[in-house]
Amino acid sequence: MIYPRVALIGLGLIASSMAHAMRAGGLAGEIVGYAKSAETRAIAKELFCDRVTDSAAEAVKDADLVVLAVPVGAMGAIAAEIGLHLKPGATVTDVGSVKQAVVDAVAPHLPAGVHFIPGHPMAGTEYSGPRSGFATLFQNRWWLLTPSESTDPQALARLRQLIEQMGAKVDTMDVAHHDLVVAVVSHVPHAIAYTMVGVADHMRRVSQSEVIKYSAAGFRDFTRIAASDPTMWRDVFLTNKDAVLDILGRFAEELFVLQRAIRMGDGDHLHAYFTRTRAIRRGIIEAGQDTAAPDFGRAVPTGKEG
Ligand code: NAP
Repeated sequence: MIYPRVALIGLGLIASSMAHAMRAGGLAGEIVGYAKSAETRAIAKELFCDRVTDSAAEAVKDADLVVLAVPVGAMGAIAAEIGLHLKPGATVTDVGSVKQAVVDAVAPHLPAGVHFIPGHPMAGTEYSGPRSGFATLFQNRWWLLTPSESTDPQALARLRQLIEQMGAKVDTMDVAHHDLVVAVVSHVPHAIAYTMVGVADHMRRVSQSEVIKYSAAGFRDFTRIAASDPTMWRDVFLTNKDAVLDILGRFAEELFVLQRAIRMGDGDHLHAYFTRTRAIRRGIIEAGQDTAAPDFGRAVPTGKEG
């Protein structure tokens, strides 16, 4: 056991996956949970929490590790509520997809003697809520931590041990660098997927039934990303504004270059560009971050799935 008592604030995809993984590995003595709605709390109690409470303040009482697993925009209010109820020496971490905004919102509410180590598991699905979690979500995925120079090394080592025993690999980096990296690998790709699905939705020359019928040609993969939780993604774009706008600007420039190459019939340019992008895909497979199976290893649905 790594932490005798863990409090999960927010009981959706990430928190429920953590709870399942901690239970599978015997990593926590007791898992206490709190989420906004009574319905979510009841499901969590049934599926993965030893105990749920009626307030966040109550949930963190005597907890050795507190995990903030709510949308980024809700972190500050939760921190304000729990600050005075934290056990001295406890570690507080979060799983938010943006780090600078979370540090700004949370750190001022935490008392001295509590270790705040912001984090971000680079794993997820397009599903949300307390029923969507599973123990292997973090398996072989990266989990980024953004400790500061004053972070207690022992508290950091303990949190790292928990994460590694849940199956993930840990990297540490500074907060600003984190926000730029995730803008490239996650936030802007989501913005593009949302936009492409929006374009198809507005295309009246292509009927809705054709968009769906022929979706396996590429569109389907955009729709999976664009089905991600609206609250979470609203908060991501509102709070990682600078990095996202920087990368979106670069994206728009690249798109214009591509557009021009197509207009001018510059086949050499297109071929060289697509050769470079294909190498990036190969690198992702070699790094174990996806499978090389065609169609992302997905079976063709039979229509009989549950
Ligand atoms: P989720 O499945 O939508 O769950 C969010 C949870 O937060 C729900 O239990 C919700 O309670 C609770 N909540 C929302 N506002 C609250 C408040 N004011 N007070 C208390 N509880 C509140 O979300 P998730 O996917 O687990 O994401 C959680 C965090 O992880 C987010 O910060 C997100 O950026 C980050 N993250 C997500 C992914 C991903 O792919 N999904 C990946 C990495 C990191 P109710 O159910 O009662 O509404």
